[in-house]
Amino acid sequence: MANDCIFCQIVAGDIPSKTVYEDDAVFAFLDVNPLAPGHTLVIPKNHHETLSDVPEDTASELFSALHRLTPAVEDAVDADASNVAFNNGEAAGQEVPHVHAHIIPRFDGDGGNPIHAIAGSTPDLSDEELDEIADDIADAR
Ligand code: 5GP
Ligand code: ZN
Repeated sequence: MANDCIFCQIVAGDIPSKTVYEDDAVFAFLDVNPLAPGHTLVIPKNHHETLSDVPEDTASELFSALHRLTPAVEDAVDADASNVAFNNGEAAGQEVPHVHAHIIPRFDGDGGNPIHAIAGSTPDLSDEELDEIADDIADAR
């Protein structure tokens, strides 16, 4: 536990939360400032800052919980769909440095945007540049 971390304090019960799910490795609770009814945060109980800091077994448990919780959240608020996403790192807009997935219920005609709306400006990449990037990712994996 990181003592100065809000989400660690929520897991420990030191800060109250509207808890929706808990198991050995994962904790989920309603966002205090929801973008939609049912907006839920899903976190590993242990403190890890970003996705790349999360051990693989914990990542599996996190995804497994997300897989089960997403339809539960949608059903609970009668949503038509959801955006499921991580702000992974400060430059991506992550404000709480304890990795968390957002489940944001979506409704037909809610006026929101797809995840593509997060980009500031989009790059114009040649086929060769795309090949190079794909190779670099494959090598780094
Ligand atoms: P981020 O920008 O880091 O991806 O999202 C952090 C989220 O945590 C925000 O949506 C914010 O509303 C939520 N949040 C911040 N502090 C608290 C808190 O003390 N309790 C709950 N339930 N949510 C919080
Ligand atoms: Zn933490």
